[in-house]
Amino acid sequence: VRLVEPGADETERAAESALRPKRLRDFVGQQVVRNQLSIVLESARARGRAPDHVLLSGPPGLGKTTLSMIIAAELGTHLRITSGPAIQHAGDLAAVLTSLEEGDVLFVDEVHRIARPAEELLYVAMEDFRVDVVVGKGPGATAIPLDLPPFTLVGATTRAGLLPAPLRDRFGFTAHLDFYSTAELQQVLHRSAALLGVALTSEGATEVARRSRGTPRIANRLLRRVRDWSLVRGSGATGGGVVVDEASARAALEVYEVDPLGLDRIDRAVLRALCRTFGGGPVGLSTLAVAVGEEAETVETVVEPFLVREGMIGRTPRGRVATDAAWRHLGLEPPLTRPG
Ligand code: ADP
Repeated sequence: VRLVEPGADETERAAESALRPKRLRDFVGQQVVRNQLSIVLESARARGRAPDHVLLSGPPGLGKTTLSMIIAAELGTHLRITSGPAIQHAGDLAAVLTSLEEGDVLFVDEVHRIARPAEELLYVAMEDFRVDVVVGKGPGATAIPLDLPPFTLVGATTRAGLLPAPLRDRFGFTAHLDFYSTAELQQVLHRSAALLGVALTSEGATEVARRSRGTPRIANRLLRRVRDWSLVRGSGATGGGVVVDEASARAALEVYEVDPLGLDRIDRAVLRALCRTFGGGPVGLSTLAVAVGEEAETVETVVEPFLVREGMIGRTPRGRVATDAAWRHLGLEPPLTRPG
């Protein structure tokens, strides 16, 4: 299994939900965003109005969905959830919009993937709280305007740059979520361990946090996997409680092929393809994705940002290149003459 995959299976998703913070004060890290958002929400509450539309951008697993739930909870309103890929026709969107109640929060994940014909409708809904429902076809078609109750759209995207400008401009508050520090991830882990009934030592938390690629979703997932290991192979197996310490974290993460930097099999496959197959690059992202049998989007949004941040992949106008750190991480000698 891929431990970092965003859309895992049903039980993984349920396990993930159980660990979501429900209120802003329980949301770890992202100090700047949390502070800005709390002002936006308090002001809306004071004015008795729905807050401006909110755009959350950042890599998967950093808390965009969680924040949308928190926004609804803090406002004491309902949350409706949909996603860009689910909205392929204007009618899909019209159906969602017309079912909204006053003050509702509508979360649209992957908002950059909304189909073109629905985009125009969304602009009008966001700006004028109106949808034009088209009745009939051809020259006889008429548009019937329907008023919508005021609502707040919370859009999530992996990169704000993917959004068409007119859509981006209609968000009154834009927040970018960044990777979490190891200290912040430790905090996430201690909170989760308490909810899971696991005894987590501070060394154990450090070990898991360091391998979590700055991402709370991965931290929680790795914690559950170490919990499993500890239960059946570690302290739990000898009749004790489930303890996650440095030794059990190391042993478990070795079993799951998560290396000390948090790279998993696919990350290493990408690096190996880059170094071995393509001699260190430069090579195009889609070519690289094909070489490892992954979707280009997965490589671009999940694998690459982390490897770039870790200084293992460089982006050049001619494609991706491996850095010396990448070669060394694979246990290979970097070539003396650099390509590109
Ligand atoms: P995204 O929508 O950005 O992909 P999610 O909001 O689904 O990410 O977050 C993934 C998981 O990580 C959630 O289950 C949540 O428990 C955890 N998480 C994310 N951000 C935080 C945070 N700031 N504090 C605590 N837990 C978090």
